[in-house]
Amino acid sequence: MSQLYELDVLNPATEEVIATVPGAVEQDVDAAAYRAERAQRAWAALAPVDRARLLRRFAAVVDDHIEELARLEVREAGHTIGNARWEAGNVRDLLDYAAGGVERLTGRQIPVAGGLDVTFLEPLGVVGVIAPWNFPMPIAAWGMAPALAAGNAVLLKPAETTPLTALRLAELALEAGLPEHLFQVLPGRGDIAGESLVLNPRVGKIVFTGSTRVGRRIMALCADQTKRLTLELGGKSPNVVFADADLKAALDPFSFLDNSGQDCCARTRILVQESVYDEARDFLADALAGVVVGDPADEKTQMGPLISRQQLDRVRSYVPEDASALRGSAPDGPGFWFPPTVLTGERHDSQAAREEIFGPVAVLLPFTDEEDAIRLANDTPYGLSGSIWTRDVGRALRVSQAVRAGNLSVNSHSSVRYSTPFGGFKQSGLGRELGPDALTAFTETKNVFISTEGPAQ
Ligand code: NAD
Repeated sequence: MSQLYELDVLNPATEEVIATVPGAVEQDVDAAAYRAERAQRAWAALAPVDRARLLRRFAAVVDDHIEELARLEVREAGHTIGNARWEAGNVRDLLDYAAGGVERLTGRQIPVAGGLDVTFLEPLGVVGVIAPWNFPMPIAAWGMAPALAAGNAVLLKPAETTPLTALRLAELALEAGLPEHLFQVLPGRGDIAGESLVLNPRVGKIVFTGSTRVGRRIMALCADQTKRLTLELGGKSPNVVFADADLKAALDPFSFLDNSGQDCCARTRILVQESVYDEARDFLADALAGVVVGDPADEKTQMGPLISRQQLDRVRSYVPEDASALRGSAPDGPGFWFPPTVLTGERHDSQAAREEIFGPVAVLLPFTDEEDAIRLANDTPYGLSGSIWTRDVGRALRVSQAVRAGNLSVNSHSSVRYSTPFGGFKQSGLGRELGPDALTAFTETKNVFISTEGPAQ
């Protein structure tokens, strides 16, 4: 690394600097892409069974280091230890799942006249993955695991605030026997390391997860080069609760408090049928009061700090002191703490109800009937996720079909599974990740026609 600048990595629960990491500049990205291109050719030439075996070994080495990776995540991202263990385990599972796809990445044979027509699914070459800070490990692996499995090399640019788990994963890849330079990590600033990756001509595809604002800029840069691109962007997801629902389950506060609300799928618009609105508000008031906010390394903690001072200031700006709100508690002193909050006095078109806050803050809004619920659920530029709670199966299906979002749950708050497709409608993104087609997204389809006509007589 050129050592032209450094990134200080802070523990968000204490504000202490826990590491200083050199930041990549354009020439570092160029050198890494050059090395990656060479490593990729050898990787793609390996027998599929050997590529799969190496990825399974990588998964096994990650499994051996779950606790270490989780502790690192707690220190650099402030995630609760329970969540962090799940995240490290998710990287292992993503690698195992992708390894299973290597020998199943089949093209097609298409009936044509006069010959045989087949398609090849060829790797793109070098793939650039740009990750955010909110789920540093899983989101890096959403791109990295299937891209490697499909025969590509990967350059990963982690977020400025959370480079440590990414750097450790690259070391574990080498320990597992993956070829040198096949998976490289380039910590650095978005406008320097990130843009250099997007602009590098050796990089065939960018997988970006982050804000809609930066996603748009990257899309414009990719357009100039006709570069392949996947965008996973922001969200403002509805939780639609009909009066006949299991209210306790539907109003689980961790549907928007998990990861301190720094979750693109957080159900931050709680839409409740008006006949149960008061009951819902009272239930949420009690639930918020019971949330344990504090040291994320403590097994009993349910919610940790926000990632940074900047994020804390942003979240505060949406919740004025005199806002009508239900509030839990949070520690004082060092660390980026904000209490669990539900805003109760908002209109559906207010800033807090429309913009992604990315903190432990939801808005509670009433609706009248099914039509009104669908209108409010869709009244946002985003379309990432959402939940629908009702005991009426027909209504659950009608509302699921009417809500314009990529990932919905009925009578559940789940969103992301490595085995099912994930991605956004509208301004929440472009393309899909995960699921059975994850590897295909890292290939080009080549069609080859082979004539079976005999030589001319
Ligand atoms: P961000 O857009 O600020 O940064 C994301 C990444 O892009 C970082 O690595 C950053 O360094 C890099 N970057 C910044 N400017 C760049 C540029 N000009 N060129 C190239 N790279 C650049 O987002 P964030 O604050 O780190 O993450 C939070 C956002 O991510 C939220 O909006 C959240 O909704 C979104 N998110 C979306 C999903 C999803 O799957 N849809 C998942 C998680 C997070």
